[in-house]
Amino acid sequence: MSISEKIKSFKEQLPEDVTLVAVSKTKPVSEIMEAYNIGHRIFGENKVQEMESKWQEMPKDIEWHMIGHVQRNKVKYMAPFVSLIHSVDSKRLLKEVNKQAKKEERVIDCLLQIKIAEEDSKFGLDKEEALELLASETFQKYENVNVIGLMGMATFTDDETQVANEFQKLKDIYDNIKETYNFTKLSMGMSGDYAIAMEKGSNLVRVGSAIFGKRNY
Ligand SMILES: *Cc1c(COP(=O)(O)O)cnc(C)c1O
Repeated sequence: MSISEKIKSFKEQLPEDVTLVAVSKTKPVSEIMEAYNIGHRIFGENKVQEMESKWQEMPKDIEWHMIGHVQRNKVKYMAPFVSLIHSVDSKRLLKEVNKQAKKEERVIDCLLQIKIAEEDSKFGLDKEEALELLASETFQKYENVNVIGLMGMATFTDDETQVANEFQKLKDIYDNIKETYNFTKLSMGMSGDYAIAMEKGSNLVRVGSAIFGKRNY
């Protein structure tokens, strides 16, 4: 199947309340345009500079989502245009996003990334850190960030029960606090596990290789 056929088939499969982020990291503009040309507008990248150069080159009605770990000194490059940052994994990063968004006179939507996987390599806050951040006075003073939900990545494993349990853990945290903080987005699921993630309540799936094919790093 071509990229455009895969995008179409995803859109047919996904329920209306689930948003598809097409993860285009490492892929050239020409391939991303195949998805754009059939009407897709939401793309995810994991490197700030790569996203910025694609933003420069591509049509301006694209919503660019940052899904990877962000270094604080790179925030300024995406502050003018990024539409959602899925991967806020520290207080200091959120502070910097607020600062750079203010300079741009924007309010930037963010998700807190929660660590749910067993692997040490995955970034994220633990539940207690996230709750503490949300309850802190400093956070409540930030006027240029809008935290609208949570994101998580499950362990990379064939054990579907484990993956389901990890997503369930995040869904429970989300359900516990969504009313208090007006959360609307729960970002879970990638090419290998989006079906499980949706069963567990995800409404934002980040799908790369199942649309664009394997990546060569
Ligand atoms: C690369 C990436 C994805 C997409 O992964 P696929 O397995 O290619 O679908 C999703 N989320 C994050 C955070 C990623 O870095």
